Amino acid sequence: MSSKEPSFRESVDLMFNRAVALMDLPPGLEEKIRVCNATYTVRFGVRLRGQIQTFTGYRSVHSEHMEPVKGGIRYAMGVNQDEVEALAALMTYKCALVEAPFGGSKGGLRIDPRQYEEHELELITRRFAYELAKRDLIHPSQNVPAPDMGTGEREMAWIADQYRRMNTTDINANACVTGKPTHAGGIQGRVEATGRGVQYALKEYFRHPEDVAQAGLSGKLDGKRIVVQGLGNVGYHAAKFLREEDGALITGIIERDGALISDKGLDVEAVRSWISNHGGVKGYADAEYVAEGAKILEKECDILIPAAMEGVINLANAHRIAAPLIIEAANGPITAGADEILREKGTVIIPDMYANAGGVTVSYFEWVKNLSHIRFGRMGRRQEEARHQLIVDELARLDEHLGGAWSMTPDFKQKYLRGADELELVRSGLDDTMRVAYQSMAEVWRTRDDVSDLRTAAYLVAIGRVALSYRAKGL
Ligand code: NAD
Repeated sequence: MSSKEPSFRESVDLMFNRAVALMDLPPGLEEKIRVCNATYTVRFGVRLRGQIQTFTGYRSVHSEHMEPVKGGIRYAMGVNQDEVEALAALMTYKCALVEAPFGGSKGGLRIDPRQYEEHELELITRRFAYELAKRDLIHPSQNVPAPDMGTGEREMAWIADQYRRMNTTDINANACVTGKPTHAGGIQGRVEATGRGVQYALKEYFRHPEDVAQAGLSGKLDGKRIVVQGLGNVGYHAAKFLREEDGALITGIIERDGALISDKGLDVEAVRSWISNHGGVKGYADAEYVAEGAKILEKECDILIPAAMEGVINLANAHRIAAPLIIEAANGPITAGADEILREKGTVIIPDMYANAGGVTVSYFEWVKNLSHIRFGRMGRRQEEARHQLIVDELARLDEHLGGAWSMTPDFKQKYLRGADELELVRSGLDDTMRVAYQSMAEVWRTRDDVSDLRTAAYLVAIGRVALSYRAKGL
């Protein structure tokens, strides 16, 4: 990245400042919302392979206008204070935009998880969780982490168990972290949630032809050429669903060791399994391999999905990005400088704070499930089925009365009779959240002359809600 490029946190602040300039907030309140409340740095030692290794971790709390605060824990070598503070700020705005009742937080551990055995990662994670939990930086009513880059269900299960060991009488202990496996207090559909949210966001965007036209595109998702960067949790699920369910063509996949391209479309499942068996995309047979992966961000396509990390579209390459529509599945993939270049070019950007909010949305459902101690659908499902059966029986009776001239298709009957299970309810809640949030953001984009992009619109909605919440507290 160029030295003129602001840091990730500065980028978030610049975007925030651009939006508040269009609002009428008292300067004191503006500053209160913008700044990060606190960042805790911890250095701890773990005895591994016969010697003590020291690790550095962070947990940053951006805003406590609502509690608990919420945000993932990332394991990566690039983790630093600036990054966790930027990510924590994004969490505040993201939660406000999708109406998840949380403040914003984020954590990170400077570690390359691929260098450690599972039992070593468990020791490290439990020790990190201990350090955070003893300061209430992991707590069901104060601070609830979730997975992010380099972490997943396994780490969340260790964190939950560590918290439980330290708080043996806390009946709500399971709600101290989300993204847990379903057998350890998790919820169906959390693993896929962020990628699923990206799919729902795109589906909603394509329901509005006037918005689609802003990107110079038309029609539906079917047949659209998509390039994805990062085939991890978010990128894999987004690409898989868009290909399998919406008929999109995945014409490029960019990973750490290079990229794969194919105009006829890549088989996402096959590429994913190749990566897990070979450690990278190189050598995959059914596509062209490009060693300089990042170049493929510039490939001609309809939709670009950066789903790996921040800052990948920056001052150095922004003017060469060909995609007319970018959906930010990762957090902060476009720097503030690149954002300006792309806006001038007319590229439509569906911003991170909205695009990847599926994760926190389903985390919210998991937290509610943990606090209510009951699976969604458990009370109502069979009653719903019984009522549907009543209607089906009654229609069958009427049909008989009319001499059998009309009948229901077996497929309809089967679908209609089945009550919703937890996964269907989670998907329904996520779909509704993504649609409603898009509409609130797009409404500002379409109606305000001084707002020319979705990011500014998203900030306006989110900051407006955080401001209302502070005002209600008398600030
Ligand atoms: P992950 O660790 O599961 O996947 C990241 C993927 O990107 C991996 O496949 C990795 O090999 C690849 N990658 C890393 N560096 C790369 C590079 N330089 N070029 C190309 N590929 C590279 O992480 P994730 O959970 O999918 O998170 C990805 C992004 O999405 C992050 O920005 C994260 O903050 C954001 N996000 C994640 C969630 C979630 O629920 N996991 C929620 C919201 C936002």
